[in-house]
Amino acid sequence: MIYKFKKFVSSNTGFLIRLDDIAENMNWDMMKQATDLFDKYNIRPVLGVIPNNKDQELLNYPKKNIDFWDQIRKWKDKGWEIGMHGNNHLYDKFCSKSDYLGHGGPTEFCNHSFNNQLEKIKDGLNKFQKEGISIRTFFAPNHTFDKNTLLALKECGINEVLDGYGLMPYEENGINFIPQLFYKIIPIPFGIQCFQIHLNYYNQEDFNNLENFIEKNSKKIITYDQAIYKINNNYFYKIIRILSKKVLQIKRLI
Ligand SMILES: [Zn+2]
Repeated sequence: MIYKFKKFVSSNTGFLIRLDDIAENMNWDMMKQATDLFDKYNIRPVLGVIPNNKDQELLNYPKKNIDFWDQIRKWKDKGWEIGMHGNNHLYDKFCSKSDYLGHGGPTEFCNHSFNNQLEKIKDGLNKFQKEGISIRTFFAPNHTFDKNTLLALKECGINEVLDGYGLMPYEENGINFIPQLFYKIIPIPFGIQCFQIHLNYYNQEDFNNLENFIEKNSKKIITYDQAIYKINNNYFYKIIRILSKKVLQIKRLI
C-alpha cells in the first residue's frame, strides 16, 4: 500500500524549467552559465523566446556577436522546447484582474480586440516560421491574456499554454495548460510544476541557488513532452486548481 502510494507520488511529480525573456538582448553571461549547468545534468528547459522584441527595458541588455536565431536552432536541436513569449513584449494596456488568470497589471494582449491579438500572434509566428522554428506553446508577458488570446492562438494552430493554476496539466477552452505557480523556485512534493526563471535579473547568488536545486533534484526535472503528457482533467485536480487560484490571488493582495 505504502509502496503503491510512493509510486503514485513519484510518477506524478516533476519540475519543468521555463526561461523567460529570451531575446537578442539579454544577460548572455548568465545564459552561458545556465546552459553549462543544463548540459551537465541533461536538462531540457523551455525557452520563452520573444520573436520581435521592442521592450526598451529588455533592449538595454547586451547583444551577443552571434546569429541569435542560429543559436535558437542549436538549442532546439538539443531537445530544448522553444516557446513563444508574446510578440513585441510591449505593455500597451493595463488590466485590473480582468485577464484569464486574474493576475492584473500591464499587458501586451489582454483587453485588446481579437483582430489585434490575432495580428500580434501571426506576426510572432511568422518570425519563427521564417527562421525555420516550429512553435506549439505560448506564454504571455506578465501572464496576462484573455479569452480572445486563446481564440487567436487556436486560429493559428497553437493550443498549448505554459501558464495556469493547479498541480497537473489540464485542458480548458480547447487549450492545454501546464501550471506555473510561483515566481521563485518553490518545489511542492507532489504535482507537475513549471518554474519560471528570469536570468536577466539573476545575480551570482541566485544562480548558485539554482545550481544547488538542480544538483539535488535533477532526477525530478522533466521535459516539456513529459509535462504535457500528464494532462489530467479529473475532479481532484480541478478542485486543487480552483483552490490554488484562490490562495495565490489572496497572497498577491497581501
Ligand atoms: Zn517576459
